[in-house]
Amino acid sequence: MQIPGHIDPLPVPRAITPREDGRVDLLGLSREQIRAELEGAGLDGKQAKLRAKQIFHWLYHRGVTDFDAMTDIAKAQRPFFAQRFVIGRPQVVEAQVSSDGTRKWLLRSDDGQDYEMVFIPDADRGTLCVSSQVGCTLNCRFCHTGTMRLVRNLTPGEIVGQVMLARDALGEWPRGSMASTTDDEDDDAPQYTTDGRMLTNIVMMGMGEPLYNFDNVRDALKVVMDGDGLALSKRRITLSTSGVVPMMARAGDEIGVNLAVSLHAVTKEIRDEIVPINRKYGIEELLSACAAYPGANNARRITFEYVMLKDKNDSDDDARELVRLIRQYKLPAKVNLIPFNPWPGAIYECSSPERVKRFSDIIFEAGISAPVRTPRGRDIAAACGQLKTQASKMSRAELDRLADEKMAALATSG
Ligand code: SAH
Ligand code: SF4
Repeated sequence: MQIPGHIDPLPVPRAITPREDGRVDLLGLSREQIRAELEGAGLDGKQAKLRAKQIFHWLYHRGVTDFDAMTDIAKAQRPFFAQRFVIGRPQVVEAQVSSDGTRKWLLRSDDGQDYEMVFIPDADRGTLCVSSQVGCTLNCRFCHTGTMRLVRNLTPGEIVGQVMLARDALGEWPRGSMASTTDDEDDDAPQYTTDGRMLTNIVMMGMGEPLYNFDNVRDALKVVMDGDGLALSKRRITLSTSGVVPMMARAGDEIGVNLAVSLHAVTKEIRDEIVPINRKYGIEELLSACAAYPGANNARRITFEYVMLKDKNDSDDDARELVRLIRQYKLPAKVNLIPFNPWPGAIYECSSPERVKRFSDIIFEAGISAPVRTPRGRDIAAACGQLKTQASKMSRAELDRLADEKMAALATSG
């Protein structure tokens, strides 16, 4: 069997999370998909539409997993749903809490795939770092996830399921009133208020390259943004890509969330080495796509992520070149400097704190915000690029071979 994504990195359609008992898991499905499932189960058109709307609300707005709790559905009809459908959650294999409050969950899908999510609480926000794939077909040299052999796209249910599970764990489902909003598209529609809530932001920065699982990530985030569902504003969601240029415009048009780009280097030579997708889509192409990203403006800047690697990409000249590039492409940008998180077998070291500070100052003095990301959850290995569970340990030679294999697959994928 081909491993989706590994040999062929194009998205493989897989809308519904597979279950052994044959019941259909509604988690991750849109209102329209739920309606179609209900009609397929025998409800007439009008019933299916009404019930889909009710179930959607119970599922995503109230966090209910049991049809018996759906009080506006006739009691006699509830077993009909329970026999055919479930509202699942990813299975939790392990949950860890760091001394700084960061939480990490190791999750398992019904077909035994492990993936992870991380919750990072701050004074004024709480950010959930969500995975989009098991492993990653790309092979950035500093990233642990890139060393995983096994790759498959997560389904919308597995992606939305991470947010649902975090809400469960944080005890953040509304109680009482059934009041809901219905206008999904309207930006000004009432959203969950962030007052007092722990989970306020989502970043697609867990395992995987979200733009190589475009359809599922889009469908999942649409559910997350739906005013009658989880109702998170698109302004509080950030999608991070290593630079899948052909998908960036669609991400802006069809998802519309904030964009983060893993730039990490300013010359072809270094970016080719550390972010190999650069051999396919170079820096100029990438920055042009950023300049054209729908919705980017001074109020909604593009974040450039830059991992600080000692003697690799951290010189004063690199910082100045980064400023020059941002100016040349007239990008509404901020730079996020990420101290490299080492992992066993990594061939890089993190830049010294003084170097990181100097690098940040050069960018800052040019009028561009360049904060240094504080490492979080280090005691539970929750930091960037450490989200790896199933991978076998590989030697450097194996990693090089894997990188070549993955790049060859990319080169033939159009
Ligand atoms: N695949 C996407 C999103 C997941 S990675 C992407 O590459 O953008 C999220 C961020 O963590 C990226 O900027 C990535 O480059 C960074 N990262 C990965 N491994 C890291 C490590 N060991 N130390 C610091 N940052 C790392
Ligand atoms: Fe994949 Fe992102 Fe890691 Fe690169 S940094 S290997 S694109 S997860």
